[in-house]
Amino acid sequence: MCRASLRCKFDLRERLPVVLGAPARLLVTACTMTALREASRCTEDASVSGAPFVARRFELRRCRHDEPLPVQECIAALIGEDNPHHYGVVTDAEELKNTARRIAGVPLVFLERTFPLLEAPRDYQTKVWRGSRAGSKI
Ligand SMILES: [Zn+2]
Repeated sequence: MCRASLRCKFDLRERLPVVLGAPARLLVTACTMTALREASRCTEDASVSGAPFVARRFELRRCRHDEPLPVQECIAALIGEDNPHHYGVVTDAEELKNTARRIAGVPLVFLERTFPLLEAPRDYQTKVWRGSRAGSKI
């Protein structure tokens, strides 16, 4: 999404709270920063080469992967099976979107043309959420 923010000229830090309807902290993992830097070295595309500079303004989340993992694997490991830290995913990469969709309770923000949008929960995510609420003691 860093590339999209440059290409479409929006500030993700300002736009994301509007899309979510709530304050949000933007985080980036070390593996993601590595991937952004590697992609920026071998391109003439200004949005790709500028993406690491956008991401540097986000809070760095140490993911503790000694060797950088592919971004979708790093993010999936960070979120875990039940997302106890209430992470959301902001991306325009199909692989990462699919990773986020497989984990119930993970909000997904993606780019629709030139504007970030919050994806509606899928049916199975709603069922998992309702099941967890039915079993909760609150
Ligand atoms: Zn990682």
